[in-house]
Amino acid sequence: MSKEVRVRFAPSPTGHLHIGGARSALFNFLFARSQGGKFIVRIEDTDQARNVEDATEKLMDSLKWLGIDWDESMDIGGPHAPYRCMERLDIYESYLQQLLDEGKAYYDYMTEEELQKEREEQLARGEAPKYSGRDRDLTPEQRKAYEDQGIKPVVRFRVPEGQSVLVQDVVRGDVTFETEDIGDFVIARKDGIPTYNFAVVVDDHLMEISHVIRGEEHLSNAPRQALVFEAFGWEKPMFAHASLILNPDRQKMSKRDESIMQFVEQYQELGYLPEAIVNFLALLGWSPVGEEELFSLEELEHQFSLERVSKAPAVFDTDKLAWMNNQYVKEADVERLTKLAIPHLQKENKLPATLNDEQYEWTKKLVSIYQEQMHYAAEITTLTELFFQREITYNEEAKEVLSGEQVPEVLDHFSQELEDVTAFEPEEIKAAIKATQKATGQKGKKLFMPIRVAVTGQTHGPELPQAIALLGKSTVQARLSEAVKQ
Ligand code: GLU
Repeated sequence: MSKEVRVRFAPSPTGHLHIGGARSALFNFLFARSQGGKFIVRIEDTDQARNVEDATEKLMDSLKWLGIDWDESMDIGGPHAPYRCMERLDIYESYLQQLLDEGKAYYDYMTEEELQKEREEQLARGEAPKYSGRDRDLTPEQRKAYEDQGIKPVVRFRVPEGQSVLVQDVVRGDVTFETEDIGDFVIARKDGIPTYNFAVVVDDHLMEISHVIRGEEHLSNAPRQALVFEAFGWEKPMFAHASLILNPDRQKMSKRDESIMQFVEQYQELGYLPEAIVNFLALLGWSPVGEEELFSLEELEHQFSLERVSKAPAVFDTDKLAWMNNQYVKEADVERLTKLAIPHLQKENKLPATLNDEQYEWTKKLVSIYQEQMHYAAEITTLTELFFQREITYNEEAKEVLSGEQVPEVLDHFSQELEDVTAFEPEEIKAAIKATQKATGQKGKKLFMPIRVAVTGQTHGPELPQAIALLGKSTVQARLSEAVKQ
């Protein structure tokens, strides 16, 4: 019988949810769902210097926003609780002791300065820096001498010499590493708190993790973790290291890379839709069968397979994300989009801090006429500029339209027609345009363009009668008479 699929997303609470982390979380979640397995969220916080307050809550909020939920974690508990590493210190301690007792780990008293010196000497000799093994075989007397000097040791893992380490990876096949290239690594710091490479193995084993799915940046950790699994005689999980995510310039992303928004929360703030982000992230390194690109989370849960995760780098194409979000915006409920759009309009003082019913309805109509065009909700502020300008400026193209000889007649007439409109609604406005056509004999572009340009300042834009209705009679009249003077 094959093992139950149990996978985990194990973020360190060092900040907001990164798009790379979100992709790892999603792949784990999808794999668990596609296999009828369990998805666990574990918080790896043993590197305390890097921990950021509130980061755990923020990470989990972002996951929830994406629609990724879990079967076991800190908030809902589970059979392998606790799910926060700092609450598991006593568990690690006994395993650490076991390795020390078996001689598979040892105390190392080298100071930072000594280690630094060692590294510099190795580099000067053209060697790759690697712990020399000075304290590998200290006698109890030597240890005591260091202790007496008050030097606190770290615990290092004794990497076996002259061996190959196998990492079985669904994405990459069998990857072997030589222990020669791996220095004895630290598994517990001076304060006794284990490092990631140790705690992760203990946790993955105890939590019965079947597959470790994460980004390529962790591939170099895999042999160290494999060695720890072997030292305990534990079965290693299957690994799956998904490709790197490159920025739009096809460069490796750095923390300071500004060519791209790197955190899920930033997309949320701009009014991207979570289902679009999920869809987009799924395609970063995974490819579906067939040409279809738009998938709901539920569809992904059925279609996802690790076999179709690629090791070729995935490029984060921001234009594609905008396109994809627009696909979802077009289908979204206008009420939902309105709620997303309002805070952005408020931030720019285009709407009051609280909206009455009438203002809300107006905004909803405004959003609906831009729904086809809008890539994400924050874009509403620039798209709708013409509704909030006191005076509109005409660009060259617009001036050209307004210079047509039929224009004054069309605009004057339309203005008169509007005077008689009682309910300033799209239907009545359409009728006023029609009446203008009849009276002036102008039609098509010669009729519509001057009206559009006069009222909106633009040659392209939203549905004209709807836009006119939303602008309101007095604004439209003022703009019409202003345009005639051009
Ligand atoms: N805590 C690690 C990180 O945030 C997790 C790596 C892993 O999945 O093993 O990158």
